[in-house]
Amino acid sequence: MRFAEPVEVVGVDGDDTLWRCQDAFDEAEVEVARLLADHADAEHVAAVLARTERANLATYGFGVKSWTLNVLQSAQEIAGPAAPVAPFLELGRRLLTGPVEVLPGAEEAVLALGRTHRVVLVTKGDLVDQRRKLAASGLAGCFSHVEIVPDKSAATYGELLRFLDVPAERFLMVGNSEVSDVHPVLEIGGWAVHVPYRTTWVLERAAAPVIHERRVTVASLSDVPALLRTRR
Ligand SMILES: [Mg+2]
Repeated sequence: MRFAEPVEVVGVDGDDTLWRCQDAFDEAEVEVARLLADHADAEHVAAVLARTERANLATYGFGVKSWTLNVLQSAQEIAGPAAPVAPFLELGRRLLTGPVEVLPGAEEAVLALGRTHRVVLVTKGDLVDQRRKLAASGLAGCFSHVEIVPDKSAATYGELLRFLDVPAERFLMVGNSEVSDVHPVLEIGGWAVHVPYRTTWVLERAAAPVIHERRVTVASLSDVPALLRTRR
């Protein structure tokens, strides 16, 4: 990764890049499987939920409220009309109100990036929930701009860069998702740093990481400031 011209704007993802997210969904889905254990094994429950989420994605979008509707629909499919509702609603409510845990070193890394670059938060999902998490994280002041988008497609990034008035070759995106933070940014001509998290939502898993001269994978967000200092 050798920048042809200096990076001007750094986009940073939120969920599982700055703060923990997927762990709470994984835990909630263990509970979903437990609640449906009389009707199906955990593997079947996970398969039905993933299929339902995929089918509803374009209609519901991302986020906890969509997850809750998808869990209710999956429970109906698996257990029939006798499926409970209240415990699933409660799981969704817990996800929407749970503590926000900033990942180790994230704040220091974003502050360091902010000393040399314009840093923007680019996160997708439910507007209310993402705003809550940003506020609870204490990181809101680290960003020159916050963009909460319904999805992270190449078109979405293109719109954002036009708004920020920065060419793609001077934009670098940092995030944990190959599908959302890396592929679409490479597609429009930008740069991407992949910082994998230890668990990835099934719909965010790429078949294979794309090999490209404008992307790199690092172990930690803390590695990114040095990457931008040395690779100019
Ligand atoms: Mg993420």
